[in-house]
Amino acid sequence: MPIRVLPDFLINQIAAGEVVEKPASVVKELVENALDAGADQIVVDVIDGGRTLISVIDNGCGMSKEDLAKSITRHATSKLPMDDLLNINFMGFRGEALPSIASVSDMVIDTRNSEDSNGWTLNCETGDIKPSDWEEGTRIRVQNLFAKTPARLKFLRGDRAEMISVLDVVKRLAMARPDVGFTLNNKWRFPKNQPMAERIAAVMGDDVRGRMLSVDAKSASNATLKLTGFISEPTLRRASSVDQYLFVNDRPVKDKVLVGALRAAYMDVMHAREFPLCALYLTLDPRSVDVNVSPAKTEVHFLEPSHIRSFIIKSLRDVLAQTLSDREVAQHIGAEVPMHMQQSLNFNRRDFFVAEPKKGPDIAFMFNVPERKDLSVNKVEEHAQEDLPLGRVIGQIGNKYILAQSGENLVIVDQHAAHERITYEKLRKHKIKVQPLLTPIVVSLRGEDVEAVLSISEEMKDSGLHIGAFGDDAIAIFEKPADWDLDWVNLFHAIADEVRQYGHSSQLGERLHLKLANYACHHSVRAGQKLDLQQMDALLRDIETTSRAGECNHGRPVYKIIPLIDIDGWFERV
Ligand code: ADP
Ligand code: MG
Repeated sequence: MPIRVLPDFLINQIAAGEVVEKPASVVKELVENALDAGADQIVVDVIDGGRTLISVIDNGCGMSKEDLAKSITRHATSKLPMDDLLNINFMGFRGEALPSIASVSDMVIDTRNSEDSNGWTLNCETGDIKPSDWEEGTRIRVQNLFAKTPARLKFLRGDRAEMISVLDVVKRLAMARPDVGFTLNNKWRFPKNQPMAERIAAVMGDDVRGRMLSVDAKSASNATLKLTGFISEPTLRRASSVDQYLFVNDRPVKDKVLVGALRAAYMDVMHAREFPLCALYLTLDPRSVDVNVSPAKTEVHFLEPSHIRSFIIKSLRDVLAQTLSDREVAQHIGAEVPMHMQQSLNFNRRDFFVAEPKKGPDIAFMFNVPERKDLSVNKVEEHAQEDLPLGRVIGQIGNKYILAQSGENLVIVDQHAAHERITYEKLRKHKIKVQPLLTPIVVSLRGEDVEAVLSISEEMKDSGLHIGAFGDDAIAIFEKPADWDLDWVNLFHAIADEVRQYGHSSQLGERLHLKLANYACHHSVRAGQKLDLQQMDALLRDIETTSRAGECNHGRPVYKIIPLIDIDGWFERV
């Protein structure tokens, strides 16, 4: 068969196969164009999940008649003025979205450049351009998507599922640009210049209010490398990665280095099957990241992935380490306890280990413990003048929970979770004890697995595992963490899988973590154990100085703080 150069319509349809996978991809390309055109108001309308109509209107710079004609020509772009693919300041640059979309739909563009006296309308099917009374910016209407390519049409999911993808795209771009206003189907509105906290709540849901921790980190070794944004308190999580919004130089990305680093940062406080929420913005020299990796431009290649990874992990761990955050402490410090509140603390004695208020002005803080009167009074008075974030012990309930009062708030602490966290953090501070092996353990593996595992052998050394190649298809273990024996084949397989998929692996760390966590769990105060005031007080003071105190190492909450206003609410006093 002779070779022929394919006609343009086929070339465009082939390109559309990559760029325009579904209605959401059309929305993504059109909204990105609107942002590149400098718009600050973007209105998206989608009918029947996008198969009948997708319309995007913007108030950006618009196009002249000449540019309008060129815009649907393949590889025509206004965004690479310096021919420099490594210095890209726009969302687009490949010049293939409009011709691709036009080739698989009926597309009409209305536009007006502010320098022109009138607007123009392009019918992409015929190539006709006519003067119009379009006033400002651009409107692109895409109708009957994939009607010309029935094979594609068959792959579309139900309207509702496609709509969810469209919403996801709009949300991601809305998170990228809180300065820009977005409207989708008149139903989802993200107003222009929305404060970041409001935009995050609008995008992720109201449950995130007050539960996101701010991140603002600069790399010590690379002046252009920065990480800003918000991550969730570990007790706030989702069952999937939907609410993980990641950006590289303001471009929404799905990047395995970033996702892996985020997961590793939360490793100590969250199950692998749970997902933290985040809006994280990584900024770096455009020359140290390649964004021209996939047609949809959602993947990136970093020049120094491992450097980026460790910078992110460290920055996020620093933030998580202060889970009992300054904000929270500030909120609980210094609040006076009004008299009526003090009296109301006279709980039903039967439910408590200790809970009988003494008469006198300090009534809320002084408790008679019949068997240990001396201790309770001394201990409690000692702190009477201080303001303690987790407050003063009131008593124990169900032999499981410690009740305390902090300022005007009621604090409830899960004693087992609390002790577990304290023990775990103490253990973590000790360096891993390494046991050198007189005879190395030899583990047989497939050659490709050996390669993958050895590629991270330096990192493993930090965790106390010293390995090396043993011929082409085995690994020798020279040193291992003391008292640590496990199914090495299984561990190395898991590591090799992760390295192949993500370029790194957190398996070893996770398993060490599990061992520590189990140890901490078995050496901690149990639920069901009666504690005296002194023990409870010591526990509270210990948590206050423990990092990541907000949750136990299984990710369950350690304490809850109930503000007076909530209690007032229960009694209908508000
Ligand atoms: P790219 O965005 O990669 O340049 P596209 O095919 O998406 O390629 O768009 C081609 C060109 O059309 C853009 O470079 C831009 O000059 C112009 N264009 C597209 N959409 C708009 C818009 N909404 N407002 C102004 N110009 C636009
Ligand atoms: Mg584009």
